[in-house]
Amino acid sequence: MSKHILILGGGYGGLLSALTARKYLTPEEATITVVNKTPSHQIITELHRLAVGNLTEQAVALPLEKLLRGKDINLRIDTVETIGLDEKRVVLKSGITYNYDALVIALGSETAYFGIPGLQENSFTLKSVDDANRIRAHVEERIEEYARTKNKADATFVVGGGGLTGIELVGELADMLPGLCRKKGVDFNDVSLYTVEAAPSILMGFPAEHIERAQTSLEKRGVKFLIGLAITEATETTVFLKDGSTIETNTVVWTGGVQGNSLVGACGIEVNRGRATVSETLQSVSHPDVYVAGDSAVVMGPEGRPFPPTAQLAWQMGETIGYNLFANFKGAPTEAFNPVFSGTLASLGRKDGIATIGASQTRLKGLPASLMKEASNVRYLSHINGLFSLAY
Ligand code: NAD
Repeated sequence: MSKHILILGGGYGGLLSALTARKYLTPEEATITVVNKTPSHQIITELHRLAVGNLTEQAVALPLEKLLRGKDINLRIDTVETIGLDEKRVVLKSGITYNYDALVIALGSETAYFGIPGLQENSFTLKSVDDANRIRAHVEERIEEYARTKNKADATFVVGGGGLTGIELVGELADMLPGLCRKKGVDFNDVSLYTVEAAPSILMGFPAEHIERAQTSLEKRGVKFLIGLAITEATETTVFLKDGSTIETNTVVWTGGVQGNSLVGACGIEVNRGRATVSETLQSVSHPDVYVAGDSAVVMGPEGRPFPPTAQLAWQMGETIGYNLFANFKGAPTEAFNPVFSGTLASLGRKDGIATIGASQTRLKGLPASLMKEASNVRYLSHINGLFSLAY
């Protein structure tokens, strides 16, 4: 009898789970349903570019309907409300419920606000296509407003957090703002663009030469760094910092951290700091009929530290899960998750970047690093296209 595989999330982990499971299982063997909040599979590694209009929405929001067409994979655009593990039933916002034989949770992560007063209400985030579009429209409006009123808060932009998300975004803003200012009749020298980082340096854990490169490259383009200074509060017009100083601004983008998806924490699955604890086959240790991909899971690396929640890990997890769904249904040997790290690639605006490539940890800076980032995106897109043509 046909089994039902229910996949929550159509991001990297969810999409790759679905496509890989379909590669091994015929529609007679398994019905596959993907539930996703938005109609698109979002290339979130490129959102910083969409946030400044350096890329079109079509390039980062790929219609799931099109990606899954002809694959015998059902698609439901809806929001997951509750996951009932005992009754093996998922309830969606529309009221629709799905039962499953195997569940894949691939719902990504959420922004962590660490209880900082006013921050959630008064900041933008960069986690979706809608977020990126909101930032782009808002920044443009602020510059237009500044041209009219000369209110300094409109020409002041604060990015909270100097991790990869914050640094990639501030790099794009630094490259975009001079042109926008010219267009709107504003002197770019009137603009203040801040990165505020609580830790002793930006990009903590990166090689010192990359941190140095990122900071100097961005400073040359006008970014001001406030390092070792936590944001402690935000209001509509003011950011408060740990040393008692303040920044008057009408724009805060918060990139200060991510946490596990709250649906995962609430469903009764075993979690470690909000992310599901999984076995080496990526099955929940408390509920083996549940597989967890991407940022919803925590996977320990060989040194006993969790792997970072990245896109490259999420899609490899999806592939392992897709295969293990087949293996468990068919009684074939399962596969242990064995990720391959192609490295870390980060852009510092349009023409600069930093990269650590492969097992040899080869370091690249400048245009070669930017081009590698571009190439990795193309590689992902051609990989998923390859899977489409391979499916059973
Ligand atoms: P992060 O947790 O890596 O960085 C957040 C930063 O915000 C940290 O440096 C932290 O010290 C700082 N911060 C926290 N509280 C603060 C406060 N109160 N005031 C000021 N600063 C504060 O988050 P991220 O950058 O969103 O990255 C999340 C994950 O996604 C990471 O694993 C990252 O490697 C990955 N990622 C990868 C890429 C890439 O590979 N190009 C791009 C983006 C994100």
